[in-house]
Amino acid sequence: MITLKEQIPLAPFTTLGVGGPARYFAEARSLDELREALKTARERGLPWYLLGGGSNLMISDRGLPGLVVRMLCDAVQRLPDGVRAEAGADLTALVHQAADWGLAGLEPLAGIPGSLGGAVRGNAGAYGGSIGEVCAEVTVLDARSLELASFPAEECRFSYRSSRFKADAGLIVVAARLRLQTAAAEEIREQVAATLARRAARHLACSGSAGSFFMNPLVHDRALLERFEREQQVRSREGRIPAGWLIDQAGLRSLRVGAAQVSPRHANYLVNTGGASAREMLELARLVKARVKAATGVELMEEVSRLGFAPDELEG
Ligand SMILES: Cc1cc2nc3c(=O)[nH]c(=O)nc-3n(C[C@H](O)[C@H](O)[C@H](O)COP(=O)(O)OP(=O)(O)OC[C@H]3O[C@@H](n4cnc5c(N)ncnc54)[C@H](O)[C@@H]3O)c2cc1C
Repeated sequence: MITLKEQIPLAPFTTLGVGGPARYFAEARSLDELREALKTARERGLPWYLLGGGSNLMISDRGLPGLVVRMLCDAVQRLPDGVRAEAGADLTALVHQAADWGLAGLEPLAGIPGSLGGAVRGNAGAYGGSIGEVCAEVTVLDARSLELASFPAEECRFSYRSSRFKADAGLIVVAARLRLQTAAAEEIREQVAATLARRAARHLACSGSAGSFFMNPLVHDRALLERFEREQQVRSREGRIPAGWLIDQAGLRSLRVGAAQVSPRHANYLVNTGGASAREMLELARLVKARVKAATGVELMEEVSRLGFAPDELEG
C-alpha cells in the first residue's frame, strides 16, 4: 500500500536541485502500488507526475500541484539472451550487473545517471550507443486504462533522445527486456571501465546539472556543418551538431543568470552553482537559445524535461 505524503520538497530528488514541493508524493515499489497511486490521483482529480532518478528534470519553483509518483520497482532478472529489468532499476547498476553476468551491449551507457524507465523514455545514449538499440520489448502501464501493454522494439519509435513513450505521457514504462550478447565478463568489465574513465575525464559532476540541457540539433546550413567538421575534425552524426559547440560559437561558456551558469567545462550543461531558482535556470536557457539563434541561425530545443511551468513560461 502506498503512503501519501504532503508538501515534499522535490529539489533533492533531482540532480539539478531546483524546484518547489510536491502537493502529494508517493513511492511505488510494485505495479500494484503504481496503479493505486494513479487511481488515487484520478479519484482526487489531481494531475500526476512520474519521477525516476531525477537526472533529466527541471521542476518549477512553485512545485507540482498534484501527485508525484517515484518509481522504485527495480527487479532485474537474467534471461538466456539478455535481461528483463523493471523501470526503477538504476541504469549504471544494471550495466555492471550485465557485465558480471557476461552479457555485452550496455557498455556505452555506463555512467548515465537515472533509472532504466527514464532512459527508455528518452532513448538515453552516449558514445554512439543508445538504450533503444538493445531494447527487445518495453512493457508499459497505460495510465488511462491502468492496463499493461507490451511493445516490441520496432513499435517503440526510438529515435534520437525520443520514443513513443516520450511522445505519449500516458504510457508509463514499467519494464524492458534487453537483448544482449554473451561475452567474457572480464572483457565487458574493461569496456565499462573505459566508458566510465572517458566520462570521468570530462569532470562532469552529477550534482547541480541535468546533463545536456539541449538536444543536438539537426542543422541544414551546409556551411555551418562544414565549419564544425573542419574545426572539430569529426563527421557530424546524422546531420546533427553538438549543442555545446553552437553555444561556444555564441561565446556563452560561463554565462550566468544569478546562480545559474553555463558550465565552464561543458557548454551544454547549464548548472546550478548553489541555490539557483528554476526561474534563473529558465532565464539562462532562454538567453542561450536567443543568442545561439542570433549567432548561428540554429534553434535549440530542450532535452531536459520541465515540469510544473505554465506554457508561456516555456516559450522563447
Ligand atoms: C551528469 C549527467 C550526465 C548525463 N549524461 C547523459 C548521457 O550521456 N546521455 C543521456 O542520454 N543522458 C544523460 N543524462 C541525462 C539523464 O541521465 C538521462 O536522460 C536519464 O535517462 C534520465 O533518467 P531518470 O530516471 O533520471 O529520469 P527523470 O529525470 O526522473 O525523468 C525524466 C523524464 O522521464 C519521465 N520518466 C521517468 N521515468 C519514467 C518511466 N518509467 N516511464 C515514463 N516516463 C518516465 C519523467 O516523468 C520525466 O518527464 C545525464 C544527466 C546527468 C545529470
